[in-house]
Amino acid sequence: MTKTYNITLIPGDGIGPEVTTAARRIIEATGVSINWDVCEAGAEVFKKGQATGVPQATIDSIMRNKVALKGPLETPIGFGEKSANVTLRKLFEAYGNIRPVREVPGIKTPFQGRNIDFVIVRENLEDLYAGIEHMQTPGVAQCLKIISRKGCEKIVRLAFEVARAEGRKTVHCATKANIMKLSEGLMKRTFEEIAKEYPDIQAEHIIVDNAAHQLVRRPEQFDVIVTTNMNGDILSDLGSGLIGGLGFAPGANIGDDYAIFEAVHGSAPKYAGKNTINPTAVVMSGVMMLRHLGEFEAANAIEQALFVTLDIDGIQTRDTFGNEGAASTSAFADAIIKNLGRKHSTCASRNYQRVKLPKVSKAPDLVKVTARQVNGLDVFLESSVDFNTVGKTLETAVEGTLVCLKMISSRGVKLYPGSNPAVDVIDMLTARFSVRETAYDLTDSDIADIMLRISKNNRWNHIEKLNMFDGKPGYTKAHGED
Ligand code: NAP
Repeated sequence: MTKTYNITLIPGDGIGPEVTTAARRIIEATGVSINWDVCEAGAEVFKKGQATGVPQATIDSIMRNKVALKGPLETPIGFGEKSANVTLRKLFEAYGNIRPVREVPGIKTPFQGRNIDFVIVRENLEDLYAGIEHMQTPGVAQCLKIISRKGCEKIVRLAFEVARAEGRKTVHCATKANIMKLSEGLMKRTFEEIAKEYPDIQAEHIIVDNAAHQLVRRPEQFDVIVTTNMNGDILSDLGSGLIGGLGFAPGANIGDDYAIFEAVHGSAPKYAGKNTINPTAVVMSGVMMLRHLGEFEAANAIEQALFVTLDIDGIQTRDTFGNEGAASTSAFADAIIKNLGRKHSTCASRNYQRVKLPKVSKAPDLVKVTARQVNGLDVFLESSVDFNTVGKTLETAVEGTLVCLKMISSRGVKLYPGSNPAVDVIDMLTARFSVRETAYDLTDSDIADIMLRISKNNRWNHIEKLNMFDGKPGYTKAHGED
């Protein structure tokens, strides 16, 4: 008996309805039986006054169906602050953003013939994209980069599982751990630890800027790249540029229980309703969805029909063919449907298996320590006064307390005590206080007393406890700090 899948379909904004219609028609033509639950999200929903851009009916539909295929969603300026796309990923804890980058036969690029075929596995929920921002002074903005051991472990395991499911040999982890030793470093350390559980796969760490360089110099060396959210966002757009542009870049947002498939591109409003846009990215997102469902035959049939259409038949849309003689979006979809059953002579589909989704403990505290100590305090101050004067004031303020002023820094560079005339100081200073007796564990009431003294003559914005976890500092030093 044929299985029928219930799938939420969000046509989306701009070119969304055209590209999702093409994908739906092609998927249906393979014979896979799907009940599409067509749901709203995006611009029209914002305009109706729904602040998230995602109505409850759409959320309920994805909750029920567990799988969604979505077109791009726009966040109209002046309606709501958050992107409806990000809201959907967060609501369904879709932590893994999988973005394959494969050379497409028949598409002319400077990299044609290099056999580019890799997958970017990008952490989708943490990092700077958690969107936690504060103005520290009227002229200084701060964005928190949140990286958790749990988030790292989930994405790293997912990357190794994707490598296994797709028969790939190497996973690179791209981080900026050389600079952000605690946050990006946590990703690197987690990768190196988890890699030991996958001895069949070669694990390599690469600094993310070199990864960008290598992706352009020798993209064929990569198989799977796992990385933090912002690195992954940038590297995956670079990847799509290597193979012919955003029209060819599909994606999946994967969580433990839900999966949302969507192209990397947006709603390209200037092309909306013109029937000229390239639907390949959403069609291939649909192919990823079919593989997620275990419908490998139908998925390969679409991929092969697409390759035949683009390369053997030379039928392409305006973005790669130019205006004269290009196929319309709907004619391109018709050609793929007609070509179902044909195979490309040289570009075979990979032998995919279903990705075994990793199981990571749901406990909030994956890392436990036996000993902890608060051995100091960083106090972030708003001040445009000379830092030597601020230093003397702070030293006087904490006289007789359990802490002494260790130094003042600005943007991570030590200023006081000492002098550094080259530094162009801003009006946010960080005053670091250390316990006078090294083993003393500062209490909250000690801190409250210290802060009351400091606040008499200084405007402070936030404080950070300097934690020692099992004897290791949970904070970094400023440049120039001993
Ligand atoms: P975009 O919609 O991705 O379009 C940028 C350019 O990429 C287009 O002008 C076009 O280039 C090319 N392009 C995009 N899709 C294409 C396709 N299917 N075929 C061929 N070329 C394609 O980016 P944007 O203009 O920055 O964003 C527009 C809206 O989409 C914004 O509201 C943004 O927030 C939203 N957005 C949504 C998502 C999502 O839903 N996941 C992702 C990104 C952006 P040419 O002009 O060179 O032809």
